[in-house]
Amino acid sequence: MTEITRRDFLKLGAAGTAGLAIPIANPLGFDLAAAKKRALEARISGAKEVHSICPYCAVGCALIAYTKESNGKTQLLQIEGDPDSPVNEGRLCPKGATAMQLAVSSRRVEHPMYRAAGSAKWEEKSWDFVLDKIAQNIKASRDNTFVAQDANGNVVNRTEGIAFAGGAAFSSEEGYFATKVMRALGLVHIEQQARV
Ligand code: SF4
Repeated sequence: MTEITRRDFLKLGAAGTAGLAIPIANPLGFDLAAAKKRALEARISGAKEVHSICPYCAVGCALIAYTKESNGKTQLLQIEGDPDSPVNEGRLCPKGATAMQLAVSSRRVEHPMYRAAGSAKWEEKSWDFVLDKIAQNIKASRDNTFVAQDANGNVVNRTEGIAFAGGAAFSSEEGYFATKVMRALGLVHIEQQARV
């Protein structure tokens, strides 16, 4: 059996910690990278390949999702960067690399949750309920904070009680549309996020 010295062991640990791609002697007689590759291949063998885009930011990295049908349900096995994408060439940032958790996390919230004013309890509600509630709250805030003229008598027609933050995954068209709607309501506090 191969004997592993303390020095060999430290060499392995240092290489693993630094994530070095330099080939090293393998005193354990075990190729971890190859084993990982084989395990992944076995996991996605025969799976359907679905191409998608990371939902987190406007960089728009391409993803490949591997799925399998099991007991009449679609099972998500793996998500990874698409090597054919000119945007990310197979890479994903740490956030995109966790995209699978959006689908499989046991902590995922699958329904709109509503907490009434003054209540300590969250309740599951329908989309119709929450969309109506948002519309009612926007109307009430706008009515209560609308400013037709500023202190100097200039006509401003603005809504100072509402702010809007655009999603990071907005396309140009969505950003344009959202800005139009918010400006039409009279909002002046408008922000847009894109991690580019
Ligand atoms: S940079 Fe990260 S968050 Fe943005 S699209 Fe790419 S993987 Fe997703």
